[in-house]
Amino acid sequence: MTIELETRIRSAGLRVTEQRMAVLRALETHPHADADEVRRLALGELPGLSLPATYVVLNALTEAGLLRRIEPAGSPARYERRVGDNHHHVVCTGCGAVDDVDCVHGAAPCLSPSSTSGFRVTTAEVTFWGLCPACQAAETTTTTEPERT
Ligand SMILES: [Zn+2]
Ligand SMILES: [Zn+2]
Repeated sequence: MTIELETRIRSAGLRVTEQRMAVLRALETHPHADADEVRRLALGELPGLSLPATYVVLNALTEAGLLRRIEPAGSPARYERRVGDNHHHVVCTGCGAVDDVDCVHGAAPCLSPSSTSGFRVTTAEVTFWGLCPACQAAETTTTTEPERT
């Protein structure tokens, strides 16, 4: 596992560092984590890892193609290691949970706009919005409207 990670980092043209390893490991178990979550997950391996340092690592890995960054409206950027396929995301409007949605067609772009204004379209990034199972369960157990604060 460690060897495989090192090989991946190297073949992306990056130097292998403890920080890069720790960030990739954190995202292995927690896909779609934001920078703060990644930092907290990596702290076990790298005590003292700062948030700015985490961003530097995340940006380098994203630019090298090892990570994908998704930015659902109204939520901080999230990162994942599932790159290179044209999958989409479903985001919970209640709690912000994110999950993967496989591309219906499998190949990019899965959606063909009727007019592209001359653009050559290569990818389509779709965000589906809805309520996750936990929020649906909470909704059905609540008999009254949630209290406004
Ligand atoms: Zn939810
Ligand atoms: Zn994903």
